Amino acid sequence: MMRGFGLGVALAALLACGCVCPAFDAEAMRAEPLVRIVDVDPRIRIDLRYATTDNFTSRVLYDAPEAYLRASVAERLRGAQDDLARDGLFLVVYDAYRPWSAQWTLWTVVADPDYVADPRKGSRHNRGAAVDVGLVDASGRSLPMPSAYDEFTTRAHRDYDGCTPEERANRERLERALYAQGFTGLATEWWHFDAPHWAWYPILDEPLRGAVRR
Ligand SMILES: [Zn+2]
Repeated sequence: MMRGFGLGVALAALLACGCVCPAFDAEAMRAEPLVRIVDVDPRIRIDLRYATTDNFTSRVLYDAPEAYLRASVAERLRGAQDDLARDGLFLVVYDAYRPWSAQWTLWTVVADPDYVADPRKGSRHNRGAAVDVGLVDASGRSLPMPSAYDEFTTRAHRDYDGCTPEERANRERLERALYAQGFTGLATEWWHFDAPHWAWYPILDEPLRGAVRR
C-alpha cells in the first residue's frame, strides 16, 4: 500500500512537471538505502530534537537520537559541509528521516497542516529526502538565526526582513551551502531543505533504532 502510495505521488509529480530527467533512475531511488549522517560525515553535528523533549510538542517522538537520510541526500549534505568548513562552520541537524508512525504521533499532538504535514499525505521527512539544519562554529556555539528552530512565526520565513544583519548573513550562508548541492528551501522555514526529486522516494516507517541495518 505504501509503495503504491509513493508511486502515485511520484506519478503526480511527473505529471506536474511534465518532463522526465534522462539521468534520473526512479527505480534506483526507490531502493536507495537510509544511511546514518555521521557515518557519511562525522563533522556534521546531530541535535535531533524529536528524540528529546526539546521540541515544540515537549514530547519524545523518536525511539533513538539517530539521524538518517537517503544515501545520495547524505552525500549532498557532505558537500554542503565541505563548503561550510572553509569558513570554520559546521552543520547541525535538527531533523532528518522521520518514521511515518512518528508523523502520526506528531499529528495527534498538533493536527494543524500549517505546522505539521498531514500524515495521510506524508512529510518529505518520511521519505528520507528532507533535512532540518542550522549552523554552529567550531566550539559548537549556534550561530544566530532570525528565529528559533520550529518557531512557526513569520521570523522563520526565508524572506523575513526584520532580522539583524548577522542573522540574515547566517541564514543566507546556510542557504548558499545547501542550494549549491541541489537542495531547495521551504519558504516558511529557514531550517528546512528538500533534496531534488524528493517526491520519488517512497514513505518509510523504519524505526530509527537500527535503521541502518535494514
Ligand atoms: Zn523539516
